[in-house]
Amino acid sequence: MIRAIVFDADKTLWDHHNISEFEEPLKLVDANTLEDSKGRVLHLFPDVRETLKELKNRGYILGLATWNFEDKANKVLATLDLLQYFDIIVARPYPYKFLMLSQIIIEINAKTNLKIKPNQILFLDDRRGHFGNIWLYLGDVKCLEMWKDITRYSEIFSILSHVENE
Ligand SMILES: [Mg+2]
Repeated sequence: MIRAIVFDADKTLWDHHNISEFEEPLKLVDANTLEDSKGRVLHLFPDVRETLKELKNRGYILGLATWNFEDKANKVLATLDLLQYFDIIVARPYPYKFLMLSQIIIEINAKTNLKIKPNQILFLDDRRGHFGNIWLYLGDVKCLEMWKDITRYSEIFSILSHVENE
């Protein structure tokens, strides 16, 4: 049974490839579009907000594992009003998602009575290259390559019902 869902950020939640470049002040163009002081623009992908909200309503623990500076990630998420959906945010200035996921597992277990296992985690990232080390060092995390394994956010719900019935 999946208990936690962990998302990458750049090119997974939104279309920009590196929000660590963004320079303040950040402003909203509309609810799902953000612009930095130099005119760099980020669009949230369709249905991201609605999906996060519904997953939270269904009781999943939501995490973010992103190769970005922590202060930038927090500011972008706060400006987009998305901080409220994430229980755990791990942003690091390096690309090692298996380290970020192991930090997320430690934090979930510290915050809750769960002893979460790798096969209770669903991880979504647009870079399949991260998955090998996750499987090698953490084990049987259910990994989905965004825009290949699924092409719309709403497909997360069918994946979840499929996994629950396995
Ligand atoms: Mg990415």
